Amino acid sequence: MCGIMGYIGDENAVNVIIKGLEDLEYRGYDSAGIAVSNGSETTVVKTAGSPSGLWDKCKSIKANIGIGHTRWATHGAATEQNAHPHTSEHGMFSIVHNGIIENYAELKSGLDGVRFTSETDSEVIAQLLEKEYTGDLKGTVGGVVKKLKGSFALGIMCSDYPDVLVCAKKSSPLFVGVSPECTYLASDISAVADKSMRIFRLNDNEIGMLTKDSFKVYDTDGCRIRKSEVKIKSFDKSADKGGYEHFMLKEIMEQPTAVRRTLDEITADGKISFKGIKWNRDEISEINNIRFIACGSAYHAGLVGAYAAERLIGCPAEACIASEFRYMYPHLDSNTLVVIISQSGETADTLAALRLAKKKGAKTVSIVNVENSTIAAESDCVIMTRAGKEVAVATTKAYSAQLAVIYALVLYIAMAGEKISKNEFQRYVNELKKLPDKIEQILISAEVGRIPDKILAGDYVCFIGRGFDYCTAEEASLKLKEISYIPCEAYAAGELKHGTISLISDKSLVIALCCSSELKDKIMSNVNEAAARGAKIITVTDIDGDGDIKIPNTLDMFFPSLEIIPMQLIAYYTAKNKGCAIDKPKNLAKSVTVE
Ligand code: GLU
Repeated sequence: MCGIMGYIGDENAVNVIIKGLEDLEYRGYDSAGIAVSNGSETTVVKTAGSPSGLWDKCKSIKANIGIGHTRWATHGAATEQNAHPHTSEHGMFSIVHNGIIENYAELKSGLDGVRFTSETDSEVIAQLLEKEYTGDLKGTVGGVVKKLKGSFALGIMCSDYPDVLVCAKKSSPLFVGVSPECTYLASDISAVADKSMRIFRLNDNEIGMLTKDSFKVYDTDGCRIRKSEVKIKSFDKSADKGGYEHFMLKEIMEQPTAVRRTLDEITADGKISFKGIKWNRDEISEINNIRFIACGSAYHAGLVGAYAAERLIGCPAEACIASEFRYMYPHLDSNTLVVIISQSGETADTLAALRLAKKKGAKTVSIVNVENSTIAAESDCVIMTRAGKEVAVATTKAYSAQLAVIYALVLYIAMAGEKISKNEFQRYVNELKKLPDKIEQILISAEVGRIPDKILAGDYVCFIGRGFDYCTAEEASLKLKEISYIPCEAYAAGELKHGTISLISDKSLVIALCCSSELKDKIMSNVNEAAARGAKIITVTDIDGDGDIKIPNTLDMFFPSLEIIPMQLIAYYTAKNKGCAIDKPKNLAKSVTVE
């Protein structure tokens, strides 16, 4: 996680870097800092909180080289002291670090007598660089990088080389932008895409040396590596609120467009086709096991995928939490399809799962929203969601676009393997294409009324559902907790009686998703069980039901795309009524690049 920015050029590095950090703020915003040099002196300025707090503190500083960081703390509190950059004891090295140094304690114990000033794992890098410095900057960085275990993207300045920035990485993204006037370093391609003529992605264990007009890459032994440019096909820079109070509300409203654009690319003339899929029909029909691997909301999209795949493809299908995947010691082979889902395409846990799946010989396809991301680059096949840039940390439109791709992918595999009839396929595709209009319809008429007040008045919120409705319950609960900080949970409705029902009282609110045509009656029994114990109940039904919230009819498999819309609005207005920082919830970051 966290944002890294570096700059060398004729503009004031202070302005370029702080502005860049503000753009990268979605990656972490608990504290920020910069280190800049005017050629003779390095100045470090830090702030607890948002990078915008740096403007005032840096007013009088002029510099033409520097590095900056917006932090998502892993080791040590979010204080000014722990903010990056970290500087070595005698001021020779300043570093910014994204990731986690797993062996920092061991490395630190080898630096006897060195005075540390922060609680971070990162500071050890600056101290180690100074301790091991030989006068050869590239060689010293290479040697230190070899000693680091864990994940890192690094920006490094050395007072002996006042016109050079060094960067290195392992398992955390890092990009370099080179234009005739300047060079940039950034943890996110978006931060360099609109500024630079040529963009390069660093690979693991590569060391980049930047000057104002050059960029060279070496391995950790100092051997030169030739890099080719990253070709950027398109880049969405749109990041204004368009009149909405929050990005989240704007993005909720953009869902019909996000889903329509995503589907337009893969459904034409009543067919489904994926440009990114390179397997032939025989290879696809050999798939006999599907794993949807993701984190957070994307995992909930994967859950929908697993239910849909079992039903339509008729093979074992499972949604796996990416951070657990490796530790499940999964059995995969060339007939296993691993579907990797990540909005940013940089999620560290998901990337690690992808690498394991490839090592084990599975077929891998990724569903990402960022075209030039690492996950896109490393998967066998890529399918893009066309949600456009998503700024709010809590995902809405990217989730909806992921669902659209997942439905289409399941239908595509089912059809290729002749698991469903042509008529059935057509019925699903026709309905799939109607989803953007139906989402629009919900957004036009959505009324969340006093539900947010009811949530705020109670002491326990539980979302329940069965089948596809259960998948929505999980996502609805995550949405509410991540932006309103209200403890809540999701339960498969039939599971209530096996434990959670003991929490139900007259202060509880149970939100029941009851759209699935085949499970309606069953879930109503679970609703009655909760009501009998005093819980207040909100029901969500299709238009023919008598729910508190009614949504348009569709096929059971597609209800998650519709039901989630009022749930997002409920979460949004609850957080708003509570006065929460909706677009940047505390402790969260958009692109989670630490394990
Ligand atoms: N592990 C480092 C810290 O806690 C870096 C975290 C980040 O990536 O922002 O300072």
